Amino acid sequence: MIQLQNIEKVYRTDTVQTLALNSISLDVAKGEFLSIMGPSGCGKSTLLNIMGLLDAPTKGEIKIANQKTEHLSDKQLAHFRNNKLGFIFQSYHLINDLKVLDNVELPLLYRKMSAKERKELALEALGKVGLSNRVKHFPTQLSGGQKQRVAIARAIVGQPEIILADEPTGNLDSAMGNEIMDILIQLNVVEGTTIVMVTHDEHMAKKTHRLVRLFDGSQVQ
Ligand code: ADP
Ligand code: ADP
Repeated sequence: MIQLQNIEKVYRTDTVQTLALNSISLDVAKGEFLSIMGPSGCGKSTLLNIMGLLDAPTKGEIKIANQKTEHLSDKQLAHFRNNKLGFIFQSYHLINDLKVLDNVELPLLYRKMSAKERKELALEALGKVGLSNRVKHFPTQLSGGQKQRVAIARAIVGQPEIILADEPTGNLDSAMGNEIMDILIQLNVVEGTTIVMVTHDEHMAKKTHRLVRLFDGSQVQ
């Protein structure tokens, strides 16, 4: 589903040059749940951003769903991201002055769809994360775990084939973290969604199919 071949990423500023990823080759199979671990600064977010086509590698090739991505225009990339990928972040990235339902509808605004269809799909996604009773709340009225469930609903509302999650349980206590993990496992098992998750938590990583460890930009396991 995701094929990375000899990915290298160099960040250059006037004075420093950082090799953030050093020749990473990785295949993520359709339906796989992969976790990525490693110390701070080892390149995890860079790798996830490259898989999500949010950032381009300095060298190497990325294929998603068998499609090469290096020649796509910005507009095509945005379209591809919106249709194939769902993103979840540690700090939720919800819009605080939009109600839960409106937050979840956001990714659908880029699709040709009526307001009624948007609402139906958003309610369905909120049902899947167990938040049907919070649709008219604002994010500030929710717990951290509930906010992350809204973010998951927003990530899945467009029925993406792939979910990329950057420390989705990083801001949550272990009970809420486990709830979020259970939802992700459910999506993976029931819907067959491919998931790549960055985590600092060995316990969460153990629940996934495979663990890749990075150290200093290189894959060590
Ligand atoms: P992690 O997610 O594992 O903490 P990152 O992918 O954020 O690691 O960073 C990998 C390396 O690249 C680090 O050394 C970091 O300082 C560097 N880096 C990340 N983003 C930038 C950037 N925009 N400009 C320069 N260096 C960066
Ligand atoms: P943090 O670990 O500080 O919480 P995030 O998980 O919020 O970081 O973000 C991880 C990466 O995704 C960052 O490199 C950030 O620039 C990028 N990012 C965050 N929000 C968005 C967004 N809405 N769209 C695209 N990229 C984003």
